[in-house]
Amino acid sequence: MWSVFENGPTAEKVDLLVIGEGYTEAELPKLHKDVERMVAKLFDTEPFKSRKKDFNVRALQVVEAQSGVHRPRTGDNRRTATGVQYNIFDSERYVLTLDDHRMRDVASSAPYDFLEILVNEKQYGGGGIFNDQATACVDSAFAEHVFVHEFGHHFAALADEYFTSPVAYATSGGTEHPEPWEPNATANGAHPKWGADPGVPLPTPWNKKEFEKHSRAVQAERAKLRAANAPEGEMDKLFREQREWETKLLSSQQYAGKVGAFEGAAYESHGLYRPEIDCIMFTRDEVGFCRVCRRAIERIIDQYSRP
Ligand SMILES: [Zn+2]
Repeated sequence: MWSVFENGPTAEKVDLLVIGEGYTEAELPKLHKDVERMVAKLFDTEPFKSRKKDFNVRALQVVEAQSGVHRPRTGDNRRTATGVQYNIFDSERYVLTLDDHRMRDVASSAPYDFLEILVNEKQYGGGGIFNDQATACVDSAFAEHVFVHEFGHHFAALADEYFTSPVAYATSGGTEHPEPWEPNATANGAHPKWGADPGVPLPTPWNKKEFEKHSRAVQAERAKLRAANAPEGEMDKLFREQREWETKLLSSQQYAGKVGAFEGAAYESHGLYRPEIDCIMFTRDEVGFCRVCRRAIERIIDQYSRP
């Protein structure tokens, strides 16, 4: 275990522990670099950037005999220290460990409030559960984005704001929408719980149809690439093109940058709303967290730290 940075006693700071998984002894220098890169991205993102002094970050290395983690779909079988693996709930990109006992046993080497597991793999993937764990694969082109996005789930109970990617527990097309408990999704588009900026119509109009059409086409292409076990570079290229297209469309909309209630959130195309047109919890665009997500993160930082 080593200290990435420390700002004070554990009782007064948010303690984040980063665990490296799927690294051989020869790859430990790589783990150090991966930790530096991921942690740097998190603390370059608001509100973590402004609140860095409220955190301690430590990292833990677990030496494995073989590089990589368990990937059932490609037949790469591994048994690593925390049991982290791809294909959780049969979703190719969903990475978690379901073995809480092993994960806690490994993590007990350091004081921590929050955990993120760095997975030494090229294939795009990650996962995050509030108060439990977050994971991110380190060598896809979007690894840093995934690290921050998944930490949002784990740290502040943020909902996914996207609604076009396939997920194992989707209820897409459901007609009944109870109010989500997460801070950044609502079923009430006329009176969102986060309050809206003055002058912004509720629900807030945006070019949903065009976005949805494009996004579903990308999803179909993505499924094709995965089914063919295409090189990860092709997936990265597809995601880069998608990011460029989505950034352009979303940033040009009238209410970009405003807090309102934009339909489409939490895996539902209809009946659930997100606070801003774009956010790390919605796309892979370089837009940071929306204001409502930032506020939710700050509340947790306040809860775990003492100024
Ligand atoms: Zn958000």
